[in-house]
Amino acid sequence: MEQTVRLLVRQGWYDLLNLVFPPTCVNCGRAGSLLCSICWEESVTLVNEPTSPPPELDGIVSLAAHTGAIREAIHALKYEAIKDVALPLAEQLGPRIAWSFDTIVPVPLHAARLQERGYNQAQVLAEALGKVLHCSVTPHMLQRKKFTASQVGLNAEERQANVKDAFSVQGEAVPRVLLVDDVRTTGATLTACAKALRSAGVTTIYGATVSVAVQ
Ligand SMILES: [Zn+2]
Repeated sequence: MEQTVRLLVRQGWYDLLNLVFPPTCVNCGRAGSLLCSICWEESVTLVNEPTSPPPELDGIVSLAAHTGAIREAIHALKYEAIKDVALPLAEQLGPRIAWSFDTIVPVPLHAARLQERGYNQAQVLAEALGKVLHCSVTPHMLQRKKFTASQVGLNAEERQANVKDAFSVQGEAVPRVLLVDDVRTTGATLTACAKALRSAGVTTIYGATVSVAVQ
């Protein structure tokens, strides 16, 4: 009961804050929503999915190319702690996911990076997708046991070597998993995660990322 009251009060404050300071678009600054429909329509370049998903994955889907408003939205989510932008992104990505799975698992951050950022942007996205798709999220099924350098600036082979054996599975595996991350480049991170999931007994692994970066 006490918790319900606390939640209602918090929601009330949230609504009041939104009324006084309406959310503004992370790309153009227009008031109304965190990612306005104008930016969405103007700058979203839809992705032609490759015919075969990255190794170890049974399917892959992404929302858009990593450019324009989408890149701004991911930047806001990742580096400016604007976590609420995850929901409009998930509302666009969710309807593109047609597979059946048992739970959603975010690509984990290493503990050191998690401490530095305070949250895992992939987990925030996974939770938003869970809301949109009415599916459970298992945020800690995957652990990042190896601290890996940033993948930025690495070529495909270097990326693969960088994330090799970086992940392990904690707790009980389920048969089908949807892996979620913010950006996909070569798919090396998703493949490394999927490999760890498979060796723990997961049989079907799909991947979903908000954007695809072109190298
Ligand atoms: Zn906008």
